[in-house]
Amino acid sequence: RMMERDQTKTKQKAKSEEKSDSLTLERLREESRRAYLKKREERELALLKQSLQDEEDLFRGAKLTEAEKKRIQMGKQILSMVEERDGEEDKDDEFYRLPGDFHEKHSRAKQQEALLTSRYNEPKLEKSEQDLWEESQTQKAGAIGGRQKKAIESDGYELLFDDQIDFVMQETREGYDKHESLSEMRPATEHEKILEGRTKLPVYAYREEFLAAVKEHQILILVGETGSGKTTQIPQFLNEVGYGELGKIGCTQPRRVAAMSVAARVAQEMNVRLGHEVGYSIRFENCTSPKTILQYMTDGMLLREILTQPDLASYSCMVIDEAHERTLHTDILFGLVKDIVRFRSDLKLIVSSATLDAEKFSKYFDDASIFMIPGRMFPVDTYYTKAPEADYVDAAVVTVLQIHVSQPLNGDVLVFLTGQEEIETAAETLSERSKNLGSRIPELIICPIYANLPSEQQAKIFEKTPSGARKVVLATNIAETSLTIDGICYVIDTGFNKQKTYNARSGMESLVVTPISQAAANQRAGRAGRTQPGKCFRLFTAWSFQHELEPNTVPEILRTNMGNVVLMLKSLGINDLLNFDFMDRPPADALIRALEQLYALGALNDRGELTKLGRRMAEFPLDPMLSKSVIVSEKYECTSEVLSTVAMLSLGASVFYRPKEKAVHADTARLNFARGGGGDHIALLRCYSEWAASDFSPSWCFENFVQVKNIKKARDIREQLAGLCDRVEIDHTVSNSDDFDATLKTITAGFFYNIAKLGRTGEYQTAKQHKTVYIHPSSVMAKEEEPPPWLVFFELTFTTKEFMRQVAPIKPSWLVEIAPHYYQETD
Ligand code: ADP
Ligand code: MG
Repeated sequence: RMMERDQTKTKQKAKSEEKSDSLTLERLREESRRAYLKKREERELALLKQSLQDEEDLFRGAKLTEAEKKRIQMGKQILSMVEERDGEEDKDDEFYRLPGDFHEKHSRAKQQEALLTSRYNEPKLEKSEQDLWEESQTQKAGAIGGRQKKAIESDGYELLFDDQIDFVMQETREGYDKHESLSEMRPATEHEKILEGRTKLPVYAYREEFLAAVKEHQILILVGETGSGKTTQIPQFLNEVGYGELGKIGCTQPRRVAAMSVAARVAQEMNVRLGHEVGYSIRFENCTSPKTILQYMTDGMLLREILTQPDLASYSCMVIDEAHERTLHTDILFGLVKDIVRFRSDLKLIVSSATLDAEKFSKYFDDASIFMIPGRMFPVDTYYTKAPEADYVDAAVVTVLQIHVSQPLNGDVLVFLTGQEEIETAAETLSERSKNLGSRIPELIICPIYANLPSEQQAKIFEKTPSGARKVVLATNIAETSLTIDGICYVIDTGFNKQKTYNARSGMESLVVTPISQAAANQRAGRAGRTQPGKCFRLFTAWSFQHELEPNTVPEILRTNMGNVVLMLKSLGINDLLNFDFMDRPPADALIRALEQLYALGALNDRGELTKLGRRMAEFPLDPMLSKSVIVSEKYECTSEVLSTVAMLSLGASVFYRPKEKAVHADTARLNFARGGGGDHIALLRCYSEWAASDFSPSWCFENFVQVKNIKKARDIREQLAGLCDRVEIDHTVSNSDDFDATLKTITAGFFYNIAKLGRTGEYQTAKQHKTVYIHPSSVMAKEEEPPPWLVFFELTFTTKEFMRQVAPIKPSWLVEIAPHYYQETD
């Protein structure tokens, strides 16, 4: 009996140890989840508050419908409910759930869910925190034995996943050409190591063969797995055999970050200073010199270069890289270079792509030869979620932590998200959670990467992960094919990216979160198997992959506003746009619409030819409406002011910052710029001018709640624009700071499409299409006592409704003066 008792005791002890072990894990996850939920609800609450305020302002003085009254009423109820509870201790998970309509409408999770359900057509099971907890507890109580078995089967992986995100392993992407480990001998210096690394890249083995092919063919389609060394090595190979002596070797990239980062890498490999022999040029930044032989650039910059150099005379070779991305600029380049190589028989053209559909490129380039670099790739296991995930940012964060605690440390994680905001949210949540977990988990090094990230920080993603730690790269789809980060063996794919889409009816072009294609998902998965066998976790179901994702991404040219493209093509001397050799022809109505807009702006004459104004407009890398404003500023003698305003407008980010704890001060500071009238445009102008007057002082920014980083960018843009003004002989120093009307008139001359008129109901309507629009709550005019009868706006964005961003009051008489062909007295 004693023995029996002892046995039971031991058993109990073992069991409780087991239990406490899994409980710790359970608790960790629970804590993390709570922290996340709390953060999310705080955001939602702030949004709700703002929307209420905004709605009250918008409806001020207007008669409310019952439904609207009810909604506002309900919002207030929720707010007061939450505020009442605010003091109480946080015991209850339900605390973080906002009930009702407003949640439906404003929660980002809901928006994402809507996206997802439309995508999956499967109802998502709503489970409360309580349900989830109970479920996991029951599972735990009943299934420990079974799970241990599973854990052995799949190295501990299932054990940690089935409570939270249910993944199913679906397929293994076959690996091929396994090669021995890369790290056998380590040469002494850093540079030697780099050179050694070069020889290990797949392209290296094909160097001679490739160069022979280049010699033989004028056009070559180059295909090779991402990371095989196309971008960094091919231009160097060409240079090494003397093409650099005949002219520059150019290489285009669809993304600015890639152009910069790759140029930096190649300069390092060649042991030269960036900007000397190896340089890059991207919009608003030229880092080249007369010495430059290898020039990386965005495809947009090459287009601009063709403007001044129609035969690309200074180049001996041109690599159109990342051709599979089919960006708008790349597509136009195709048409142009295809023509250029016909009369420049000495120019070598290499069209390089990471995907295997090279046939299409080959066919387009008159059956050009295809050069394949056999890749090497370790197998990648692909897992799908069992059910759709409502909030993919949250799901991604949870999955990172699950990988981190369950998988061996020698493998970094790459997460694909859609943009800066999501990346920042995820980074914040992750770092907070890992801080909370402290020494209970190994160190997690979080590296964000997106276009606007300062370049010092961009370099961080390439740093080697110290032992005992794990790197998590949170990236936009820049990491899909443009950048290769060594050491990644776990990929988390949210299944979304941001794509430019153009709504021809509203005339609005915007970045929209869109499901990626199957091809893109496979590319992303491949990133896990570069240096060792990897795993890819897709945060969507296998069913969705098969049935809902398009096989391939639609080329950008088929989903974009054509204004600048037309201007560009016209200024390149291509008049017959409808017969331009597009690889994929844009819809005729998009072309025609662009032609109409440019005609209305005066950039084209009635025969469809570029006017002098149009030619000057084409010099500016701006939307045609903005470039028109810049040029008209000459007439109203306010170029200096207009440049500042345009630079601030085209930032694409807010210069004002608004810390939560000092929101009132920040708002006051911002409204100070608006004092004296002129709406957002003039407020931005005042802000810039005052900063300039303070001698660009950072402390001035600090006092005025202005983001130094962003306003500095405005200064860079302004300098670029001033340089371009010189080129088209506009004196950019002409200033008229006493008469803001001159500036607004000038802006209106470019933006006479974007006019809204106050109707009798107290709502604004766009002038020609009579669409109801609202002033965005971030505008300095959002709380105006007497809304002006006429407004010019910079852009429309649709969130909960159609909002005008950046508005300024105008006089209707200006319209008749500025755009008589568009507005008559009666309008
Ligand atoms: P591909 O163009 O075929 O996708 P790349 O030439 O971009 O391949 O990459 C080749 C190798 O160079 C990869 O191993 C990548 O990690 C490395 N590399 C590229 N850029 C950098 C960088 N900025 N820092 C460190 N390594 C880099
Ligand atoms: Mg590349």
